[in-house]
Amino acid sequence: MQQLRPRGSATRRDPVTVAIAIEPERQADWEGALRPETGVLLLEIPTNPTLRVFDPRPPAGIARDRGILFAVDATFSSPVNVSFAEIGAGAVIHSATKYLGGHSDLIAGVVSGSRELVARIQGLMKIYGPAPDPHMAWLLDRGLKTLEMRVERQNANAMALARWFRDRDEVAVVHYPGLPDHPDHAVAASVMSGFGGMLSIVLRGGPSAADSFTGALGLALVAPSLGGVETLISQPRYTSHIHQSRKDREALGIPDGFVRISVGIEDVRDLQRDFGQALEAVPAGG
Ligand SMILES: *Cc1c(COP(=O)(O)O)cnc(C)c1O
Repeated sequence: MQQLRPRGSATRRDPVTVAIAIEPERQADWEGALRPETGVLLLEIPTNPTLRVFDPRPPAGIARDRGILFAVDATFSSPVNVSFAEIGAGAVIHSATKYLGGHSDLIAGVVSGSRELVARIQGLMKIYGPAPDPHMAWLLDRGLKTLEMRVERQNANAMALARWFRDRDEVAVVHYPGLPDHPDHAVAASVMSGFGGMLSIVLRGGPSAADSFTGALGLALVAPSLGGVETLISQPRYTSHIHQSRKDREALGIPDGFVRISVGIEDVRDLQRDFGQALEAVPAGG
């Protein structure tokens, strides 16, 4: 367990003063990180963008024992691949912008939990004002009708692409929890009913190779969101991890050359053709 960036004069009554990095597999780390005033334990599974899948059951147990809220940001797994409520989550959070909407044309969020919790959140919504407009609610309702079919196809496409990328010389690493050699494959297989539509690769040629690769794509689109019917590509060094140094990103397992892929519902052969021509467009030596 490692303490990160303590800010100013941290006191036990000061709610957001210290970030603590823990090894999620170590129960003692979770327990050590909890403070007397801790009210929520929040997990994100799978993680962005390295797609680690930690077992949510031990932290769920700790939260239950302590009587605190266990919340999960389940955006990456979607409700199709994991039912966190069954695992003991008191709050399941989704960015509905992603898989729930599914067409990259709305911005919304969902929190599900007990009646009391949802009533409290609705109270806060009235104060802060994030009310979905009728058209957006209609789009979301329409998207939900095809959620399961979309995600099943995305799971299958991502699995096929993960295997395909693994056989390409230009690709140094493939991160996909469905691959048997992924560090969390066993946990993912026991918690998830599908391994998800998110997949990441690291190109041998580093950052310039990643730029050439993404620049040469024709079918897959370069865009920062995820979970839509179309395949979306991003480089974390330009998006989620733009404010970290190259060294810090490397320490997190996100070296430059890292490319995140949100796999869509296209014909997987079309995607392979597009990724193949884009890999071939990478100049030798990066
Ligand atoms: C996108 C995303 C969010 C934020 O959701 P918005 O709909 O963009 O506000 C939160 N968590 C995860 C895991 C996400 O991917």
